Amino acid sequence: MKIPLRELEALVGPEALLAGDAPEARRYLVDGTEIRAIAGQAGAVTLPADAEQVRALVAFCYGHDLPLVPRGGGTGLAGGAVPLDGAIVVSLERLSAPAQIEPEHWRAHVQAGAITADVARRARENGLYYAPDPGSAESSLIGGNIATNAGGPHTFKYGVTGSWVTGLEVVLAPGELVRIGGTVRKDVGGYDLRSLLIGSEGTLGIVTGAWLKLLPTPESRLPVVGFYESAQAGGDALEAAMVSGIVPAALEFLDAGALAASLGTLLASVPELPGDAAERTKFMLIAEADGDAEAAARGQAELVDALGAVDGMVTVHAPQLATDVERLWRWRDGVSGAVNAQRGGKVSEDIVVPAERLAEAVAATLEIGERHGLPACTWGHAGDGNVHATFMIDRSVPAEVERAEAAAGELFELAVGLGGAVSGEHGLGLVKNGALALQWPAPALDLHEQIKHLFDPKGLLNPGKKLARLPDVSR
Ligand SMILES: Cc1cc2nc3c(=O)[nH]c(=O)nc-3n(C[C@H](O)[C@H](O)[C@H](O)COP(=O)(O)OP(=O)(O)OC[C@H]3O[C@@H](n4cnc5c(N)ncnc54)[C@H](O)[C@@H]3O)c2cc1C
Repeated sequence: MKIPLRELEALVGPEALLAGDAPEARRYLVDGTEIRAIAGQAGAVTLPADAEQVRALVAFCYGHDLPLVPRGGGTGLAGGAVPLDGAIVVSLERLSAPAQIEPEHWRAHVQAGAITADVARRARENGLYYAPDPGSAESSLIGGNIATNAGGPHTFKYGVTGSWVTGLEVVLAPGELVRIGGTVRKDVGGYDLRSLLIGSEGTLGIVTGAWLKLLPTPESRLPVVGFYESAQAGGDALEAAMVSGIVPAALEFLDAGALAASLGTLLASVPELPGDAAERTKFMLIAEADGDAEAAARGQAELVDALGAVDGMVTVHAPQLATDVERLWRWRDGVSGAVNAQRGGKVSEDIVVPAERLAEAVAATLEIGERHGLPACTWGHAGDGNVHATFMIDRSVPAEVERAEAAAGELFELAVGLGGAVSGEHGLGLVKNGALALQWPAPALDLHEQIKHLFDPKGLLNPGKKLARLPDVSR
């Protein structure tokens, strides 16, 4: 495919165009799946300055049959932003004006290139709360969060990214900049195109901006950390939290392997843990109460009672100081990196199971790893039954990568077999192509494919991603 670099340069300017084989373009060929040795190939990388340039790029590429890959922060864990076969990368990073907050109306307008954590910080400075908090919040972009419908610990109570989006500014094929929804909180007239675009992973359109609703910041948040002798005991604690009468803001878990990789740095900041607790602990549950100071304190006390009354409980820790709470969540954000550091790489999937089957999913993941000769561990969002089922690899050993990919394939069958879903957060991207066929009946898969065709008749928007079925190569 011949890439018309001069014409692309005319659309975005020379400073905003990289040839696909330029050294500076290398970082645009990979995303968070680089740790599982996945890399792509781009015809060019474009860095448009505004929505109009994005529109012009889509119109040009659609007119010239050039495939396009929108890109946010490149933190995706499904390979969605990895360009295939010389596609043109459209990086949204320059659409990064500070979020405009309207404190009196509890809402914000953001450009797609705003860093997620900056949006949350801007909201907080105005007394407001933007809850979606993916572990990558300091490097993912809000457009990427919308395109994957990202979650995080606090989306258990407050809802994933899509629950916060009231409107989208989006470029649709063959090159139209449109607004769907806006500042209003209720809008049910048409088919829900906004929800269809949220989580569409760049396969239906390119998000250039969004309107978000916000909430007043909870005055206080007080977590409880329960340490347990087994995943089964941890599962019982999860159930105890669910029936405690408190709606936890977050309900997170780590199994023995994830703890072994990451607990050391937390223990340094949890002074009152008894001496042998760390060795006896094989499972950790974090449940957080929030609200005004009184409600959070009452909720924390009730969660201490609930999490502490479970057979197989080692100890329960209830931090009081805001600095300790912050440290706990910073530590939690680092779990993925700590697991990765064990062997230099990991193949991790974000399967979902009914929460009451969490302990089964944990045990089955370890069993799959053992069969494939790979150390495994799990952690994630217990309340949502969302398990980061992970095989730790040395990615310089191709046979290990291969075994891990085969093991990951079994995870999808596991999730669906337990009554769950193949992806709770990261989307299908490249690495889960075809997995949806395990979960959905044929008529639903047909609709998935027809919707893609309707939005993108030429199949040029992030081609080869989010495929409901694998292409039939025999035809
Ligand atoms: C350490 C770590 C922790 C993580 N923790 C979480 C977590 O807790 N919860 C969670 O949900 N995810 C998590 N992730 C995964 C990832 O951060 C999210 O999927 C995030 O939403 C991706 O955003 P991004 O800006 O990096 O998007 P990218 O990786 O750049 O892109 C992701 C997908 O969205 C598409 N896309 C990007 N921008 C746009 C746009 N403007 N318009 C249309 N399509 C677009 C891309 O084509 C691609 O298909 C984590 C990743 C890492 C590395």
